[in-house]
Amino acid sequence: MERPLTQNIRQGEAPLNLEQYERAGGYQALRKALLTMTPRGVQEEVKKANLLGRGGAGVATAFKWRFVPLGDDAPYPKYFIVNGDEMEPGTFKDRLLMEGDPHQLIESAILCSYAIEANIAYIFLRWAYRKSARLIGAAIQEAYQAGYLGENILGSNYSLELHLHSSAGRYICGEETGLLNALEGKPSMPRAKPPFPQTSGLFGQPTIVNNVETVCNVPHIINNGSDWFKSLSKTGDGGTKIYGVSGNVNNPGAWELPMGTTLRELIEEHAGGMRDGYTFRGALPGGASTGFLLEKHLDLPMDFITMNKAGTRLGTGTVIVLDDQTSVVGMMKNLMHFFAQESCGWCIPCREGLPWIEKVVHAIASGKGKKTDIQWLERQCKLLGPGNTFCALAPGAIAPLQSAIQYFREDFESLIAE
Ligand code: SF4
Repeated sequence: MERPLTQNIRQGEAPLNLEQYERAGGYQALRKALLTMTPRGVQEEVKKANLLGRGGAGVATAFKWRFVPLGDDAPYPKYFIVNGDEMEPGTFKDRLLMEGDPHQLIESAILCSYAIEANIAYIFLRWAYRKSARLIGAAIQEAYQAGYLGENILGSNYSLELHLHSSAGRYICGEETGLLNALEGKPSMPRAKPPFPQTSGLFGQPTIVNNVETVCNVPHIINNGSDWFKSLSKTGDGGTKIYGVSGNVNNPGAWELPMGTTLRELIEEHAGGMRDGYTFRGALPGGASTGFLLEKHLDLPMDFITMNKAGTRLGTGTVIVLDDQTSVVGMMKNLMHFFAQESCGWCIPCREGLPWIEKVVHAIASGKGKKTDIQWLERQCKLLGPGNTFCALAPGAIAPLQSAIQYFREDFESLIAE
């Protein structure tokens, strides 16, 4: 089984330095792109590969890129930003890539910047990822010294400066326009769209923001071609996916597997099955802001389309397992606390609604719920649904709660009755 993104990562060992990364074939894709391909040619190959964004939304990467103006008349500067603000509860896939193979990330960032003819790039990092910051910072220095960054990279007429930025530490910094505000030194609140970042992003200039895992696919697509990339997947969504599992399983962790791997294979084979004394009840498939899957969904391929059809989202692809010994209401109480705390406060339904929901779920969890609470929660979930708030934080926040009430209603009812 091919694992292009994690092929250089050895558990417990230091990541490859520049020389080792080059010996492993590193920076060849950059050389190929800069010396033999146009920016539009890079975009075309990524489009043919059907690379969907791995940050959660699953937007086609090349589709996002194509709105950035190219050519001599395009506004300058243009920015490319790698979103490494991984703060989704239960998600740790980008950290694996950033700590495990920082040069892969840098080569990817340069390639993607070239694809949109950006001349300034940022890696926007979660504040708590200090080890990633140290390793990426050292790798950036090596890349500058070797001529992969700076003026006229590899003798081409393409130049790029790359900066590492550690975020202030809010969940909303991961939302692309909130991220842009944070990078400009403003409060991290989402922006109204349009204008879209592709034409008016960082400091009002054309900007692309892509997730870490997404960009790390690009060198491999350039090296091996779009057909090879598509052949890695078990479904129509191309490539591999870094899936993860946390919860009461024997071997929690993250693994690069073909896109479309089933939840059953993930839990039983890679995560070693449930721990003794624990039975699987359900799982959030892609971090905390996705709805539950049940036992009947175990054999579904975990890709973007199938998860949508099952009424949830692939999200980040990092699974949080719910077992029979864990209170689903208690789990919801923790998640609602997190999301209420992380609301940026810009729009009223989210700012007022999430803390209120948290209070009611907390009351139910501590045996003080009222009979009308479940209906009230359902109504609030509708009010905070897609289209009713300024950004996707609120709909994401209520997704696990909504499906918990749908699938595990008796847990809420029995706590209220007791
Ligand atoms: Fe801020 Fe929440 Fe409104 Fe998003 S939905 S803008 S996080 S208040």
